[in-house]
Amino acid sequence: MAMKKAAFIDFQGTLGGKGTDDIRSLDFYPFSIEAIKKLNDNDILVIGITNQSHISKGELTWDQYNEKLNSLKEELKNHNAYFDAVYCCPHTSSDNCNCKKPLTGMIDAACKEFEIDVKGSYVIGDMGMSDMILAKNIGAKGILVLTGVGKGSLNEYRHTWKDVEPYFTAENVLEAVHRILSGINT
Ligand SMILES: [Mg+2]
Repeated sequence: MAMKKAAFIDFQGTLGGKGTDDIRSLDFYPFSIEAIKKLNDNDILVIGITNQSHISKGELTWDQYNEKLNSLKEELKNHNAYFDAVYCCPHTSSDNCNCKKPLTGMIDAACKEFEIDVKGSYVIGDMGMSDMILAKNIGAKGILVLTGVGKGSLNEYRHTWKDVEPYFTAENVLEAVHRILSGINT
């Protein structure tokens, strides 16, 4: 089986909702479904990677998480789009897990499930200190989007990921996907 490129996509602040909330408030931005569908149509794996520390804190149950995730998947299905997989880290930093972004556990899990060309893959997210450092940690290309906390990440919080440069910065996930695909198709 040929290795595939993947887009590892953050949830909160990248596909919808706010940068720091949990999945319950995540409704897709108007452009997010089109972005996912374009990746689907171009044979790039769409892998959701989301930190949901409200679960560990006891503020969000797995049932609530799964119920909301299923409704998001249903909405995608109605537009002939899909996630190839979604991984969730439920932990807080004090849980000492290996999956809370920017740690790589969710990517490691994805690489067991799929044959992924990680170096040719992308991490798309709005938080430099988790998403862009993750991209660096796995050797993929990090794309910072300016939705969610993206603008703050690029300005007052730039020091939290100062040793990392994004591959590029995009207004939103759809612009990020357009630029990915124009790079691949030219
Ligand atoms: Mg985010």
